[in-house]
Formats: sequence, C-alpha cells, structure tokens
Amino acid sequence: MEVTEKVVILKTGKFKENDLWVKYLSATRGVQTAFAFGGSRSRRRFGGCFEPFSQVLFKTGANKTGTYQALQEGSLIKAYSGIRADIRKMGLAANCLKFVEAAVAEREDSRRVFALLTETLDVIDEFDPDDFFPLFFRAKVAFEQGYTPDFTICSRCGKPLFSSRPVVFDVKKGGIECFDCAGNAAGDVISVGTLRTLAWIQDTGPANWTALELPAVIRQECFAVMDRFMAYHLGLVWEGSNYRKI
Ligand SMILES: [Zn+2]
Repeated sequence: MEVTEKVVILKTGKFKENDLWVKYLSATRGVQTAFAFGGSRSRRRFGGCFEPFSQVLFKTGANKTGTYQALQEGSLIKAYSGIRADIRKMGLAANCLKFVEAAVAEREDSRRVFALLTETLDVIDEFDPDDFFPLFFRAKVAFEQGYTPDFTICSRCGKPLFSSRPVVFDVKKGGIECFDCAGNAAGDVISVGTLRTLAWIQDTGPANWTALELPAVIRQECFAVMDRFMAYHLGLVWEGSNYRKI
C-alpha cells in the first residue's frame, strides 16, 4: 500500500553504503521508520529530505511481504534554516524531537502532536525562545495525549481554584486539590503561579509561549512537577541525553 503524507524527520542513519533508514513523525500514523534505498546518492528523488527537523512530503510503499516500508519520493516542505544556523536553537529543537520519538507510539492519528511539533519548530526557527520552551512543549504533548488535569477546579470539593493560596497536585490521580481540602492529600504542593502557568499552557499554543516571562521559582516548580507527572503517566524520564521508558 502506498502512502503520501507530511512528516517531520526525527533521525536518519546509514545501513549500507548508499542506503539509509529514516525515523519520522507522520501526521497521520505516529512515529514510523522507513528505508531509503539509494537515499544517500539520489538527489532527484530525495533532495534535502533527510535532515533532522525538516518537514517533508513522503511517498512510501510496503515491500511485498509487508515487513518494512520503503521511501519512494520525498519533497522538502520546510528546512528550518533558522534552527540549523544556531546551535542553541538546535538543542531546543532536538530536545522536542527526542521527546516525540519516545512519547508517541505507532498509532493512527497523530495530527495534534504533529501540528504542535511543527508549530513549535516554527517558533524556535523564527524567534528566540528561552531554555524552558521544550518543557512547555513536553507538557502540552502530555495534555494532547489525553493526560489533562483540570487546573481550574478542586478535584475533591469542586470549588474553583481562584484563591491565592497554594494547592496540591496529585500527580498520580492527575487532580488538583484546594488549600481547604489538601490537609490529608498526597501530592506536590504548588503555588498558584505554577497552577496558572500550567492551565495557560493547556489552553494555548507555542506561538503564545515566547511572551511568557516567568519567575525562576515558578519555572523550577513547573519543571519538577511536570517531569514527575510525565514519568508517571507517559513512563518517560530524561537520562543523560535521551528519554528512557521506565
Ligand atoms: Zn477543595
């Protein structure tokens, strides 16, 4: 079966002199791997399509027995030259790509994560987001994957979480409890600033996040609590230079 689809290249490697393998996020089928026979010498069929971060239109087909898929053609949609020209931007983008590779399975519909990733790459390419940008991306991917705590009401009494008092985020249940209910709740105490930041990430997209100027203490709190949340729900921890499934 032939498929033509938009993809973002996650990584590539050689497996024979002229042949490559390519791992990518498909807009419709999650993370996929395909072989590009003759890929390292065929500029006509694949010109510029194997660089990580590139957004590409790929035509793939399965082999006769359906055991692997081979690339037939590729055309470059967007090369993200602004990312490639800046080592810091490359670091931010690479972190987002590694997270996608670890968090997104082979599945039917990955349109939302695909849109989120391309929008995130657009922002890194055109603006100069700070080092916390990938954290917001990771949190948003977790929310898009269906792990969506309600940051607006107390999960125990149902009252709106509008007061300025700290709340308790029960990472395992994915619920927030207000100050009055939290007496015997298990979880991380978080400030209202952190609560509102997470609610805001849930409601907005990457284009909005560069304007956010957060105090260091709130950034740290967002980092700590969301990393624990993703370790628990997505089973992912950052280790050395990659995400590891736990
Ligand atoms: Zn309550």
